[in-house]
Amino acid sequence: MITANENYNKLNASYLFADIAKRVQVYQDNNPDKEVIRLGIGDVTLPLPPAVVQGFKKGVDEMADDATFRGYGPEQGYQFLRQAIAVGDFQSRGADIEADEIFVSDGAKCDTGNFQELFSNDITIAIPDPVYPVYLDTNVMAGRTGEFKDGRYQGIVYMDCLKEKGFMPDLPDSSVDLIYLCFPNNPTGSTATKKQLAAWVDYARDNKALILFDAAYEAFIRDENLPRSIYEIPGAKEVAVEFRSFSKTAGFTGTRCGFTVVPKACMIYTADGSKVSLHDMWNRRQSTKFNGVSYPVQKAAEAVYSPEGQAQIKANIDYYLANAGVIRQTMTDLELDHVGGDNSPYIWIDGNGRDSWEFFDLLLDKAGVVCTPGGGFGRCGAQSIRISAFNSPENVAKAMARLKNVLK
Ligand code: PLP
Repeated sequence: MITANENYNKLNASYLFADIAKRVQVYQDNNPDKEVIRLGIGDVTLPLPPAVVQGFKKGVDEMADDATFRGYGPEQGYQFLRQAIAVGDFQSRGADIEADEIFVSDGAKCDTGNFQELFSNDITIAIPDPVYPVYLDTNVMAGRTGEFKDGRYQGIVYMDCLKEKGFMPDLPDSSVDLIYLCFPNNPTGSTATKKQLAAWVDYARDNKALILFDAAYEAFIRDENLPRSIYEIPGAKEVAVEFRSFSKTAGFTGTRCGFTVVPKACMIYTADGSKVSLHDMWNRRQSTKFNGVSYPVQKAAEAVYSPEGQAQIKANIDYYLANAGVIRQTMTDLELDHVGGDNSPYIWIDGNGRDSWEFFDLLLDKAGVVCTPGGGFGRCGAQSIRISAFNSPENVAKAMARLKNVLK
């Protein structure tokens, strides 16, 4: 008899975006003449930049020609892209990362979800609350947690991210083995300073722990004093893996490309305390289970690093950040406490004691505006909502005018 992985039964049954879609559908059925403005799901709205499209097309043309056709590529990514990433994203910012430490993939969701399989099942895991749900759910599926009770999985060390602490979790008081961090943060839009990240790096070094650092939104950082990579912190290379994505940086949500940095200096331990190379393990994992990203997509990603590509992605991100500025100003005018939106596409808004689903329903029913209820990201989000800047300036202006009417 074929039996199921029982850990799947532990997963919290409610799926945030399905619940949102259901409520929006009911609203639309009841109000067929009302236009809904979606500032909920974090998907980009601008098309691929022209330089990227050109690189993409060139890759396709090469695949159509006998002389330049390519079959299976290297599982780790083509050298041209690994090199462009190492120089463009790291060496140019003083972070000493080499091309062979970059593993190109089809996105950060898969990598942040898959990476946990390199660790034993009895490690202690620290996860922020609120959080991008993938980190948590993939560890549940792997059997590293107990049941879901009172909004939390047993066996996980939750790190509360609270307004009074700038949404930066405290260092755990006990020793943990694996730490998930994400800055600029989804969902709160908060950022981390070099000093704050340095404290985490020190903690990981002192406790023989590993940091999984999700930098999917680094391209939104405009404050030059903020680190874009954890490798800008001295000592991080021995204790941190970094995930990056072209999704929000260059509009690749539907094209699919990202990468993970696994420094060669990064070690984990066997049960008897001997060191094992994490780079070798991830290389083995990818070579066994992954067959690389398509050549045209990697050519498209390479074009992000050309001077034209850099200027075009900056213009696209400026466009979203201008929307974020309008949203922030509206929240300031409404005297609603908020964070994010200055170096991030997300604005996290305090509901002033309102439950996040109640706040969501209010904005949908009275303004036809869709946000994301913070409760879907964890218990600490239960009194906040997330508004995303991924939309057109016209829609954002219209949505903010409606919110002003409803909430004034
Ligand atoms: N990490 C975070 C924090 C995200 O918010 C997202 C997507 O929304 C991802 C990773 C996934 O990115 P990708 O499209 O590369 O899979």
